[in-house]
Amino acid sequence: MQGLQAGRGDDDAVKVTLTVDDIPKAWYSILPHLPSPLPPPLHPGTREPLGPEAFAPLFCKEIVRQEFTTNSEEPIPEDLRDAYSRLGRPTPMYRAKRLEAYLKTPAKIYYKREDLSPVGSHKPNTAVAQAYYSKKEGVEALTTETGAGQWGSAVALASSMFDLRAKVFMVRVSYDQKPYRKFVMRMYGAEVYPSPSDQTNYGRTLLKNDGDNPGSLGIAISEAIEAAVTSTNTKYSIGSVANHVLLHQSVIGLEVIKQFEHLDVVPDVMIGSVGGGSNFAGFAYPMIGQRLKGKVDTRFVAVEPTAVPSMTKGKYEYDFGDTAEMTPLFKMHTLGHAFVPPRIHAGGLRYHGMAPSLSVLLDHGIVEPRAVEQVSTFQAGEIFAKTEGLIAAPETCHAIRGAIDLALEAKRTGEERVIAFNYSGHGLLDLGGYEQYLSGSLRDNGNA
Ligand SMILES: *Cc1c(COP(=O)(O)O)cnc(C)c1O
Repeated sequence: MQGLQAGRGDDDAVKVTLTVDDIPKAWYSILPHLPSPLPPPLHPGTREPLGPEAFAPLFCKEIVRQEFTTNSEEPIPEDLRDAYSRLGRPTPMYRAKRLEAYLKTPAKIYYKREDLSPVGSHKPNTAVAQAYYSKKEGVEALTTETGAGQWGSAVALASSMFDLRAKVFMVRVSYDQKPYRKFVMRMYGAEVYPSPSDQTNYGRTLLKNDGDNPGSLGIAISEAIEAAVTSTNTKYSIGSVANHVLLHQSVIGLEVIKQFEHLDVVPDVMIGSVGGGSNFAGFAYPMIGQRLKGKVDTRFVAVEPTAVPSMTKGKYEYDFGDTAEMTPLFKMHTLGHAFVPPRIHAGGLRYHGMAPSLSVLLDHGIVEPRAVEQVSTFQAGEIFAKTEGLIAAPETCHAIRGAIDLALEAKRTGEERVIAFNYSGHGLLDLGGYEQYLSGSLRDNGNA
């Protein structure tokens, strides 16, 4: 009989749920299992490796410790497991049966629902952890940057949950053109500034040269860092790329492993979209850990926009994380910190660099990169809406495109592959992009 709710070994189920007790008790770090050691961050002047002390002005102590931890597991405090449950964890995993039927593929397609958090993406998984430890150490305010606003919304929500002030620097084009997430942030009590802003020296300098500067994620990071290090009891909060962010996001993939165990299935390929790498890593690293131990032979596919091709066209070298050269140097796949990304709708994928640990895995061929064109991602989003009923974030449409392409490859070869992807967020605040897509004005390189 077809089960709606999965029983053990029931790989015909449409929805695989877990209970609150299944929320992981420890995060997973891939760092001790990497095939070659993670290259350390370097001082930009001396090019000497930097230790934890260098990050103390930016982050609270526990976050700095987690950034450098060599443990494969870090315990999740009970207060945070409680916060995770209030954010909708554990999240369900669905089987995309209607999509499979539409594609006429022998592949089975599964997707993990990270859109179900209050702000509609995976980002609160780390925002609440950063807010929790900051509060515990007496921090009063967090600063951060945001592009389209998903990360800013997550920090605003997490700050309100743990009674912190939040100061968000939002890339000016998004601030002007995508107003709704600004109101989401303000509803949680955050202060939101268009970046470049008049709140920092760096922002004022840029505005003096060009009052219409549209801003970029790199500029907003520089402003958020400056605002944190020049204010008392204020720390900076980062939404992707950093080791501790990827650590926190592992709750996604740890749940997925349990969900596939319930089905008695091992996925053949796992797919995620990549901006800085946090949702992909959160989803895939726990299973990549299994592969590195020789327990599974799952493939891992990371999907990026052709307009911001850091994995497929970037160089693997030391570069700054921001535009103003305030951060240390990180060894990563990068388009250069001066790269000005085209105005594609997937704002969360417009970053010049990439998580250093993901760069190691790409370099060893363990993660396979793919780049896809903007219009084809919106086509994938339309197919998904009409089959599965969900309207995906433009970032998430990249993962859907990847999953559809792999399912069509399976159809050509007649393979009954199991494909899983991370449904990183919903697109209900990204309807401007869908409007352009539907009216035929959407282009591959830029908005319209
Ligand atoms: C931010 C975001 C991404 C990309 O960021 P990563 O750190 O690479 O995960 C992808 N999907 C959604 C919905 C996002 O909000």
